Amino acid sequence: MQLRKDPITRSWVITGDDPVGHVHEDRICPFCPDSPTQPQVISSQAPVGGWPWSARAVVHPNPVFRVEGEASRRGEGLYDQMRTVGAHEILIENPNHNRQLWDATDSEIEQFLLLAAGRIQDLKQDQRFKYVTIYKNFGSAAGQDFNHPTSELTATTFVPRRILYELRAGKDYFLQKERCVFCDILDQEERQAVRIIENRGDYVALCPYAPRVPYETWIMQRSHEAFFEKGVTARNSGVRDLAALVRRTLKRIRTLSDAFHLVLHTAPNTLHRSEVLGYWKTITDDYHWHIEVMPVLPGKAKSYTYKEVYFTPVSPESAAERLRETPPE
Ligand SMILES: [Zn+2]
Ligand SMILES: [Zn+2]
Ligand SMILES: [Zn+2]
Repeated sequence: MQLRKDPITRSWVITGDDPVGHVHEDRICPFCPDSPTQPQVISSQAPVGGWPWSARAVVHPNPVFRVEGEASRRGEGLYDQMRTVGAHEILIENPNHNRQLWDATDSEIEQFLLLAAGRIQDLKQDQRFKYVTIYKNFGSAAGQDFNHPTSELTATTFVPRRILYELRAGKDYFLQKERCVFCDILDQEERQAVRIIENRGDYVALCPYAPRVPYETWIMQRSHEAFFEKGVTARNSGVRDLAALVRRTLKRIRTLSDAFHLVLHTAPNTLHRSEVLGYWKTITDDYHWHIEVMPVLPGKAKSYTYKEVYFTPVSPESAAERLRETPPE
């Protein structure tokens, strides 16, 4: 497998004739604390409530990216390619096989969020990695791989396309107005209060003005912060509020959809500046981390996958109203 760059959109794709098959669990779950086949553990969070650990990062049993070696970026005429160097980890959200994020306690989710922040900070020490993210695919329609409550982490030698769009847009807006576009969006949304779902402490859940799928939801921090990993590990970050908001938001979405994608958008690795990407000086001011949740509704997922012009037959105003009406207990 190798990474190839689309010269038009500048996005990297993984391709080759050795596709990574989906890993399916055997009868014995490899991620349960008492599993006889323990995965290689990278990092564990302190126990909460009688379990040996609360959340932990393990090596992905069938990784898309491999941690050894150099990316070996090279040209092929006008094209660019590189090896699939990176990190690919499973973040076990909870030791309990049957406790997904929306059923977990806030202190359990807090440990998971702190684990995620710690892994991102750790991997950003590696100068090969330009971007580290966390995502979760839940439900068969979203490509869920494991029954155990897990998210995945990837560290890549490139910045994904959607993040590049956001970084460029954030920078352009800042150059014009000397303000963060995400902070401005949040200010206006809180004033209008039509697309806000809920807020908890410093964190807000809302339906974005121009959604890509019905019930698309963002979770944002009110205080400006480009880096998720700095935001949640800061003193007085109120990470417990974020945990509660993640739990309650997923619970709301689950009343409308069996499947969803969740992805963390945070600033790229600025510890080691890339000549190729040309990081700008204002990134800590013009970018703002957030979580995006994209529900997968039956029959509506296809328009997102193939057309690239998003058609969303539920307005974000109705979506927020509907999501507000389905409060978690
Ligand atoms: Zn399990
Ligand atoms: Zn901001
Ligand atoms: Zn985003």
